[in-house]
Amino acid sequence: MLTKYIFVTGGVVSSLGKGIISASIGKLLQARGFKVTIQKFDPYINIDPGTLNPYEHGECYVTVDGMETDLDLGHYERFTGIQTTRDNSMTTGRIYKAVIDKERRGDYLGKTIQVVPHITDEIKNSIKNLGQAGQYDFVITEIGGTTGDIESAPFLEAIRQLKWELGKDAIAVHLTYVPYLKAANELKTKPTQHSVKEMQGHGIQPDILILRTEKHLDDNMRMKVAGFCNVDLECVIQSEDLPSIYEVPVNMQRQGLDSAILRKMGIPVGETPALGPWLNFLELRKTATEVVRIGLVGKYDLQDAYKSISESLSHAATYNHRRVEIAFINSEFLTAENIGQLDRLDGIVVCPGFGQRGTEGKILAVEYARTHDVPCFGICLGMQMMVIEFARNVLGYADANSSEMDAETTHNVIDMMEDQKSISSMGGTMRLGAYDCQLQEGSAVAGIYGTTLVRERHRHRYEFNNKYLEEYEANGMLCVGRNPEAGLVEIVEMPSLRWFVGTQFHPEYQSTVLQPHPLFMSFIKAAVQS
Ligand code: GLN
Repeated sequence: MLTKYIFVTGGVVSSLGKGIISASIGKLLQARGFKVTIQKFDPYINIDPGTLNPYEHGECYVTVDGMETDLDLGHYERFTGIQTTRDNSMTTGRIYKAVIDKERRGDYLGKTIQVVPHITDEIKNSIKNLGQAGQYDFVITEIGGTTGDIESAPFLEAIRQLKWELGKDAIAVHLTYVPYLKAANELKTKPTQHSVKEMQGHGIQPDILILRTEKHLDDNMRMKVAGFCNVDLECVIQSEDLPSIYEVPVNMQRQGLDSAILRKMGIPVGETPALGPWLNFLELRKTATEVVRIGLVGKYDLQDAYKSISESLSHAATYNHRRVEIAFINSEFLTAENIGQLDRLDGIVVCPGFGQRGTEGKILAVEYARTHDVPCFGICLGMQMMVIEFARNVLGYADANSSEMDAETTHNVIDMMEDQKSISSMGGTMRLGAYDCQLQEGSAVAGIYGTTLVRERHRHRYEFNNKYLEEYEANGMLCVGRNPEAGLVEIVEMPSLRWFVGTQFHPEYQSTVLQPHPLFMSFIKAAVQS
């Protein structure tokens, strides 16, 4: 089958959940046996979201090949289990950079470089190249931002051209919002009509409309939208608020979104596939009433900043027959006086992060977990905080620190690798992407993973300082995961405690709905036994 292209845009307001809809479409087509991939275009000028403050754009998700991307790629992977790569994430900045680099090289042979056709061609190529790279049946391309934004215009023009070139092999799915006016007791479709007109103004007729709504839309309402927007009735789908994002694919399937897509593209529809393991997961979530309380100790008290960690905890809790209750604990305000507030938790995650702010609070949280034997999971900076706390309070090096926080410390137990020291720019200078990690035979983590060689994703500049390794091991903190080539320490654990593991990598990027991550599974299991 020739690769087919599905474009997902959004109108009226942002935050409608285009990422979840794109991931759900991917999931449903995959369930029908198609090979799919999902791509995100972000209309901002940053080359990648790596340098963006999480308050602006939530967490930065990292692909296996080391691309720092938008958090929506995390949804794509968690829903479909596929692994995305750098080709799945594009920004306006990257598109322009590619075009400008070509211009400097003289590739355009003296032509005047313009948004149309040069930028739009670059966009089109990055969509089509992805389709060809993996011989996918479907490439789903989500366009970030909201229709009508100045920044989105080149992307919409590229979609218009592709739709025209590809005919039936490309369709446009447009997500809008139907507000409910309490005073009038009415749902309003006018914003949707305007949004579709805006798309039509760009020369794109949406094939499928997905209406986000807080209240159920009856058939008359859907008929009205269909009639005003030139869309078949079966292609007007509603997306009501649901208790969990993981129910969205099921709701979409129930309304025939996947069969509508196939019909539009002239592909035989066939039987509706059963989503067995997925439904099993949802069933477990419904029946899990008992709570496991996990504290996320980090400097951002913002849900999206630790999206993949929260989702990984939620998957693992579900399979442990629990509902996870996550408390965001701002480490900046943790002090020796108020650290007792952690006693209500069954487990503590010490979060990743950059920079000094909030690190002393994280160290206090680690100390609390270690001395009270509360299951504790340190991720990236979290592991580094475990190492620093141990140096200060067990090894007796009061000034121990990471050279990231204190360049002058005499006990730099976390330090920058030699070959990184000469790099001064901020973007793209980290150890990024998946690396092998050799686990020590007989260690707790080897037992948890059930193997001694794993591959996990990284995003950091600093590392455990191997100069101190023997001292740590002699005092009870074991370095049980190492990079086989460089010998870098990737995992520490304390076997004397119930569950105390720190990973230099980010296991949260690899946990999916159908394959929850073993470390999160085991951490939650220990927390449940608290
Ligand atoms: N700031 C630390 C480093 O660069 C940790 C990074 C992280 O937590 N992702 O090594």
